[in-house]
Amino acid sequence: MKLLNTKRGRGMEYLTDSASQSRRDFMKNLVFFCSLLHLKPEDLLALSGTREGYGSPPDIVYQHRTLSLGHFKELQEDIDILKRKGKLSRNKTFRSYIDDMRFEIPENFPDAQSIIVLATFTRMMYVNFHLGGKKYDIMLPPQYYDDGISIDDLKGLILKDIIQEPGYRIEKADKVHLKLLAVRSGLGTYGRNNLCFVDGMGNFLTLYAFLTDFKFEENHWHELKMLDLCKNCRICYGICPTNCITEEHFVIDVGKCVTLYNEVEGTFPRFLLPSMHNALMGCMKCQVGCPENEKFLRMAGRLEDVTEEETRKILKGEPDEHLLDSLGQKLRKFYPACEEKYFPIFTRNLRVLIS
Ligand code: SF4
Ligand code: SF4
Repeated sequence: MKLLNTKRGRGMEYLTDSASQSRRDFMKNLVFFCSLLHLKPEDLLALSGTREGYGSPPDIVYQHRTLSLGHFKELQEDIDILKRKGKLSRNKTFRSYIDDMRFEIPENFPDAQSIIVLATFTRMMYVNFHLGGKKYDIMLPPQYYDDGISIDDLKGLILKDIIQEPGYRIEKADKVHLKLLAVRSGLGTYGRNNLCFVDGMGNFLTLYAFLTDFKFEENHWHELKMLDLCKNCRICYGICPTNCITEEHFVIDVGKCVTLYNEVEGTFPRFLLPSMHNALMGCMKCQVGCPENEKFLRMAGRLEDVTEEETRKILKGEPDEHLLDSLGQKLRKFYPACEEKYFPIFTRNLRVLIS
């Protein structure tokens, strides 16, 4: 459950060599994956822009849909209904993420006509931490590391491949409910775990929304839809360590979700046992166990190992400039690993995983 798109707010300027390495790793895995499915890599890459029938730059695997801003009222009503029915958790952290979100045309962009919702394929990563002669292989979920795709890359892609005409304004829309937008636009469907699944990506993806003053002829609007596979599957009910996914309520009890607690500073609540943690940040349980994700899990990448000396320093909570720099490179700008003020989050999360 990724509630916070952490990497986006923290500057994309950092990565240079590691970003291109990420792309090379990705393309290598893409070739391997396609060979398993007897596909050419282009077949998978051609998923991008399928609705409009356009291609994408070679190294961004994406899909998109467009919606007229005339639908903002209905989108806001979807959220307001959930609020009125008390379906949205009152958890303070969760509320801090969503309370200032609204589907409304921003004052500084009154001519906006459409919203483009875009999903880029984002792999999960593994990383080995060495300690006491042992190797601890730990997951780093998609979205917590910098995959090297910048907002400017996406704006360029939209102008070139989606709008296909110069001169239009494109602005990132930050304060909108991305999963709802993706489902209502037909880009994705909800799983029982309330994550958004996109064809050809599972839920290994990053969602973005961009406003533009371009008016699209096509206007997609879909009923809220659940993933077909979920109809006869209950796996995530049993896998979720904190039981926040239940048969009775489609909207999960976010207040119990591991992600809400290990993304922010502070001590973990008593109900969150060390054994429930499974990733450097966030939680991968309901994604790793989901059959819809099976083939995309095989495309997971691997980051450079964290040495014994580095692991010891992390566990002691004693970062120095050299460590922050080295971890920033190895973990691709995973922010608690390379920003001193967030380092206690890293120390706390790693301790429960390898103690
Ligand atoms: S594990 Fe099964 S029920 Fe849960 S989201 Fe995946 S397909 Fe749906
Ligand atoms: S398995 Fe449960 S705790 Fe983990 S992300 Fe899914 S819903 Fe949240």
